[in-house]
Amino acid sequence: MKRIELELSGGCQCGAVRYHTAQILDNAHICHCRMCQKAVGNFFAALVGMPLDVFTWTRGEPSIFMSSEHVARGFCSKCGTPLFYRNMNNPRIGITIGSIDTPEKVVPLYQFGNEGRLPYFESLPALEGAETTTETDDPDFAANIRITNHQHPDHDTEHWP
Ligand SMILES: [Zn+2]
Ligand SMILES: [Zn+2]
Repeated sequence: MKRIELELSGGCQCGAVRYHTAQILDNAHICHCRMCQKAVGNFFAALVGMPLDVFTWTRGEPSIFMSSEHVARGFCSKCGTPLFYRNMNNPRIGITIGSIDTPEKVVPLYQFGNEGRLPYFESLPALEGAETTTETDDPDFAANIRITNHQHPDHDTEHWP
C-alpha cells in the first residue's frame, strides 16, 4: 500500500473524540459486508487506511468493540459515531471517511464485501429528490436545529463545547 501525504483531521459528532493524520494510504474503499453494515448502521462502511506511525488521537479516545478475534471497531461512547475498523495485526487504522472533517478529499477507489451488497444499492443515485427540505417544510424547526446545534464543527477547536 502506498502512502499519500495528506493532513486530515476529524472526529465524532459530539467532539469528545478527535484525531489527526499526516498521511493516508491508497486504499480508500467502501465495504458492503454484513459486519461493516452493522458496525456503521448503514448500507456500507466507507473507510480509508491511516498509518499508525503518523496518526494520533488529539482529543479523547474511542471505545472499542471487538467484532472478531483480531478486528476492533471504534466508536465514540458519548455520541455513538462509528470511527474506525482496525485489524490488530496491521500497523494501520481504517477511519470512517464520513468522520473526516473534509470527506470530499478522500475518494473511494474500490468496493469490498460485495456478497453483502444490498440489491437496491445501484439504484440509490437514481432516487427521486424530495421537493422540499426541512428548511422549506418547517423553517422554525430548521432554525431551532441551527441555534441548538451540538455537532462539533468540521475543524479542530481549543475547547468544546
Ligand atoms: Zn462523540
Ligand atoms: Zn466489511
